Amino acid sequence: MERNWAGNITFSTKRVLVPQDLEQLRHEVVRANHIKALGSVHSFNRINDSSDTLISFLGFYRELSIDHEAQTVCIPAGITSGAIALKLNQEGFALANMGSLPHISLVGATATATHGSGVGNQNLSGRIRKVEIVKANGELEVIDSSEKLPAFAVSLGALGIIHHLHVAIEPTYDIAQIVYLDLPLESLRENMLEILSSAFSVSLFTMWGDDVVDQIWIKSRVTSAPHFEDYFFGAHRAPEQVHPIRGVDPQGTTGQLGSVGPWYSRLPHFLLDSMPSAGGELQSEYFVALEDGPAAFEALYEIRDQIAPLLLVSEIRTVAADDNWLSTAYGRTSMAFHFTWKPKEVEVNHLLPLIENALAPFAPRPHWGKVFTAENFDFQKIYPHFNDFVQLRRSYDPQGKFLNDLLKTWGLE
Ligand SMILES: Cc1cc2nc3c(=O)[nH]c(=O)nc-3n(C[C@H](O)[C@H](O)[C@H](O)COP(=O)(O)OP(=O)(O)OC[C@H]3O[C@@H](n4cnc5c(N)ncnc54)[C@H](O)[C@@H]3O)c2cc1C
Repeated sequence: MERNWAGNITFSTKRVLVPQDLEQLRHEVVRANHIKALGSVHSFNRINDSSDTLISFLGFYRELSIDHEAQTVCIPAGITSGAIALKLNQEGFALANMGSLPHISLVGATATATHGSGVGNQNLSGRIRKVEIVKANGELEVIDSSEKLPAFAVSLGALGIIHHLHVAIEPTYDIAQIVYLDLPLESLRENMLEILSSAFSVSLFTMWGDDVVDQIWIKSRVTSAPHFEDYFFGAHRAPEQVHPIRGVDPQGTTGQLGSVGPWYSRLPHFLLDSMPSAGGELQSEYFVALEDGPAAFEALYEIRDQIAPLLLVSEIRTVAADDNWLSTAYGRTSMAFHFTWKPKEVEVNHLLPLIENALAPFAPRPHWGKVFTAENFDFQKIYPHFNDFVQLRRSYDPQGKFLNDLLKTWGLE
């Protein structure tokens, strides 16, 4: 494995090891000067890069074990949300939420606070109950105390190599998904928080056109087939299945048109056995407090003419507050402004400061796994526990084995 999923990052080392067991993993951690774990390499920056050794778990550990009494599942590193979902559903269980695609490893996803949507839904790290982690000295520590878990639940890969995560589960449930098209901008302006809070999970897709938001994806938890109206806040029901990116074949998207299916077949936007999103792309995402969302939208709308030419599509979502130290939703229920960019790295990097400047009044937090301009963020200011995290990192990894250049740029040394 030499590159990330998007192909915009070539890793700095060719030494990628797949440990055969815990002992080998511990041995490699002790031996290496610098070592990072790879998830499913869906990040768009160098967060998982290493100059020495990379550890890949993909295709190795596969077994899940469910604790019926505690209602938790023990998940090995490397396994994707989709594979977890299929096994959980067979046993009558479900995850509380999923990101937009099931192809991403759950351990890698939680390391960057990956999220789906919903004002009542925390990001995926919010359900972590226990972390089994190999520390810099090669020891395995089980983290389950309420003091340490908030630090380890979103670790950016900087505290050690996670061997297993234990995540809260619940009885399986069904979701109905419907898409409405062409939400008039005036209606969005008047009803933004109401629209985004109208169901279990709501996503808006926009090309930042002058007068409409292109699509509203609504995912509702249901016990029977619901009735959907033809109009929703002025948007009209999509007559056929659609892809979030205009002009792309919707074949790989999850069931829409009001159809009901098990949670894992509707919560992501994309099906496990298809190419998600566009493929050749970059992504950025910024989180502001939910109540600042409408004003942040207006600030971005002001610069839409600069945004639109580089855009494949933008998604607006919500995430419930949590107390994980480096969670992008720490202490505030958030509105997330996501951008799927054309793969034009130079032009995108040039544009990002304009977006970051427009959002600056709202203390935005960038998604840890996507592209942003590090100099524009004072992490000590926007994360109340940032210094606590740095202290903890130093105590767990005094030599900085799990650091890399990007994490140093972010002030984690
Ligand atoms: C098409 C696409 C759609 C996306 N959709 C969403 C979305 O809906 N919501 C969202 O929030 N994000 C989304 N993302 C971003 C993605 O979820 C994050 O970048 C996520 O962290 C990627 O997880 P990964 O398993 O690929 O990990 P990687 O990208 O490989 O690594 C991410 C971090 O996890 C660490 N890590 C991985 N495994 C371990 C381990 N065993 N122990 C310790 N650290 C580890 C790495 O070292 C690194 O720091 C999307 C990305 C793509 C490409």
